[in-house]
Amino acid sequence: MNEKRFMRRAIELAREAAERGDNPFGSVLVHDGEIVMEDSNRVLTEDDVRRHPELELARLAVREFDAETRAETTMYTSTEPCPMCAGGMAYAGFDRVVYATSGAEIAEFTGHEPSVRASEILDGVTEVEGPFCREEALALHDSFW
Ligand SMILES: [Zn+2]
Repeated sequence: MNEKRFMRRAIELAREAAERGDNPFGSVLVHDGEIVMEDSNRVLTEDDVRRHPELELARLAVREFDAETRAETTMYTSTEPCPMCAGGMAYAGFDRVVYATSGAEIAEFTGHEPSVRASEILDGVTEVEGPFCREEALALHDSFW
């Protein structure tokens, strides 16, 4: 199934971020069965707290695609979007977001647990699904932190 391929690419992007010197998070946007955009975390290498892949993809999608297209788009992301990203994604208005591992689950690695779930922020806008391919994402976090 393609959904696994999309999530594996998001996790691969997370691995690339770690190899570059950033934290291991990656995301892709899928429209019509194709990856149309992808990004990975660049907070450290660009010294910019906004450079989570989910927020960057929301920003670029609003610039590149009309609202109708965005409403047919699914994001696959290696970790559940944080509240900052979910806020930006609410403006982008994607159809679905599928995450591999939850923010709460990796809190033991990152040291902070999100106070609000992405599903609360995206309620009524974007369906939030996960975990999906959880073991693969957890293995990456386990080896990184
Ligand atoms: Zn985020």
